[in-house]
Amino acid sequence: MTTLPPDSMPRTLHSVPSYLDKSNLGPWEIYLEQVDRVTPYLGKLSYWAETLKRPKRILIVDVPIHLDDGTVAHFEGYRVQHNTSRGPAKGGVRFHQDVTLSEVMALSAWMTIKNAAVNLPYGGGKGGVRIDPRNYSQGELERLTRRYTTEIGLVIGPDKDIPAPDVNTNPQTMAWMMDTYSMNVGRTATGVVTGKPVQLGGSLGRADATGRGVFVAGAQALIKLGMPLEGAKVAVQGFGNVGYAAARIFHDHGARVIAIQDVSGTIFSAGGLDPYAVQAHLQATGSVTGFVGSDTLKGAEFWQVPCDILIPAALEKQITADNADQIQARVVVEGANGPTTPAADDILRGRGVTVVPDVLANAGGVTVSYFEWVQDFSSFFWTEDEINARLDRIMGEAFNSLWDVAERHGVTLRTAAYIVACTRVLEARALRGLYP
Ligand code: GLU
Repeated sequence: MTTLPPDSMPRTLHSVPSYLDKSNLGPWEIYLEQVDRVTPYLGKLSYWAETLKRPKRILIVDVPIHLDDGTVAHFEGYRVQHNTSRGPAKGGVRFHQDVTLSEVMALSAWMTIKNAAVNLPYGGGKGGVRIDPRNYSQGELERLTRRYTTEIGLVIGPDKDIPAPDVNTNPQTMAWMMDTYSMNVGRTATGVVTGKPVQLGGSLGRADATGRGVFVAGAQALIKLGMPLEGAKVAVQGFGNVGYAAARIFHDHGARVIAIQDVSGTIFSAGGLDPYAVQAHLQATGSVTGFVGSDTLKGAEFWQVPCDILIPAALEKQITADNADQIQARVVVEGANGPTTPAADDILRGRGVTVVPDVLANAGGVTVSYFEWVQDFSSFFWTEDEINARLDRIMGEAFNSLWDVAERHGVTLRTAAYIVACTRVLEARALRGLYP
């Protein structure tokens, strides 16, 4: 490795720190608005509600790495622990060019709500590095992951804060994180991250778990609404780990995937798209467009597709006041975190669209992360059937109990999930009290 800069200019421009970029202060404010909507339902616990509006701990780190050409590039990284009242912080790490502190704060808070909504013994955390990983080699990404892990090593640990995959991170990323942390502490600590490869203490079923949970939640919503799953028309935004698995599992159960949108384009076929074949086409060509038998749509046309179930499984703030009134679906199942703004929530509600919120719909991933963590601690591993059966039961029960809360209070499923989750978090807070 060259340590001196070569004569050539670095090919990476150092990014503007997000705390100076005022246009990026969005997701955290969305979260605050969601919390404000439930405060009237919290009774005496609202005494502690301010707790939910302040992350417990924020770590901003500089992540310098050697690029393959010998130059040094700096990246901005974060780990936010929003709340640890109910257990260690838990939540993924994303690599994306649009990562900001506001986003990671919101994502960490949504993990607190999600973990409490499905009653996992965790608080909420999230991490991220502001980088477009498509522009970097595998070696560069390994060095980035290892340096980032070392920087946040101050605050993570199997009983402190347990990262996992999120957007643009995967089992290989988790293997590097586990190895780096383990080297730094001098022992192999498999429980420091989840979503690892199965060979390193990962769990069977983890890769599909988020998509599987999206399917279970969506299928439950159809049952409640008296709609058949067989032949149900599904549109999916995002064709990564979550969107692809959800599309496949809906397809396997007789639903018809009619539209897929990802960063490469939007495709539509009224007769249905085979997700397996679309994935093979994407691998071969780098784009979903051009898939045989499909029409290519303009990006904004995706929202108008006549479907029964819409699955946003990409990034935040996709369903907004600008497109919510165009959505044809009866059910929106949020595979992504934070895809719907509060204003869009209100429009969808007014139009009779049921939104299965992120903190319920995509909780399958962290649920199997919890199973992985438990298996690592006990060094006793379960079969895939056991894992899927437990996941289906947890998701099904959570859906039904939140549906009942929503009916009882006459509120959306999102507000119901927040009522249940915030109550659990603040009960723990009140019982623990303030120290010192
Ligand atoms: N990143 C996933 C999420 O947003 C999974 C987190 C985890 O498994 O800890 O829920």
